[in-house]
Amino acid sequence: MVGTIHRLVPLGDTLAGIGIGATGPVDRGAGVIHNFDTLPKFSEIRLVAEVETRLKVPVIIENDAVVAAIGEHRLGAGEGASRMLMVTLGTGIGAAFLVNGEPFRGPNGMHPETGHIPIVSGIGRCYCGAEGCWEQVASRSALQAMLRQHLPSDVPAKEVIPLAAASVGRNPFIREAFDTYGSLVGRGLSILHTHYLPSVTVLGGSAAAYLHLFEEKLHRAIERTPAFAVASAIHVARLGDEAGAIGAALVAQDQFAKR
Ligand SMILES: [Zn+2]
Repeated sequence: MVGTIHRLVPLGDTLAGIGIGATGPVDRGAGVIHNFDTLPKFSEIRLVAEVETRLKVPVIIENDAVVAAIGEHRLGAGEGASRMLMVTLGTGIGAAFLVNGEPFRGPNGMHPETGHIPIVSGIGRCYCGAEGCWEQVASRSALQAMLRQHLPSDVPAKEVIPLAAASVGRNPFIREAFDTYGSLVGRGLSILHTHYLPSVTVLGGSAAAYLHLFEEKLHRAIERTPAFAVASAIHVARLGDEAGAIGAALVAQDQFAKR
């Protein structure tokens, strides 16, 4: 790992620090990830201290949705938004809310785990302990599982969504699966919009690139009467899958780079 990171530093530049974005609950103060379910090898170890010792530079750690939000707010689709909600539709669902670029946090700097809002019933418990969490039904993984039922079983996981997207116009079952997915993404967004009142919502993660295939039902799900409607522009992340890495680097730069 040490060699790989040093090789990424351009010739003539010095590594000033490292920013890490990690899924799930992160203890920023202790530099520890508490996410055995999706990051077993990196959880419950003193990751920040370990990387600092090996690379001899300061290291910060943040939740991955928070750093993706910071990346998109500074350099991407949420540039300059006063109240920006970021939702990442990936393996799970991550979300972060920024007010004037600063992340909304809970006690001890904790990041709200908004992918774990229970929104449906009858599907069993999530690994977080709640039943029917948003990410159980509206993550990219959930979309993949829905679409897979309508494709040959030997299609590799990575190709499920692109292949389904290419046949959406001629396969009504796939059309319906994207519609269902849009409604489920919208149901969770509606809750977050009601709570946070964002002026801009940025959708990231690999499913966001297919927003054009599910946005109609998504908008239907967040529709309200005028007095209750939340006027939040919805954009696809501009930094793509790199939003988190760029955001983590920006946070590290803010803290460690000499100006
Ligand atoms: Zn959950």
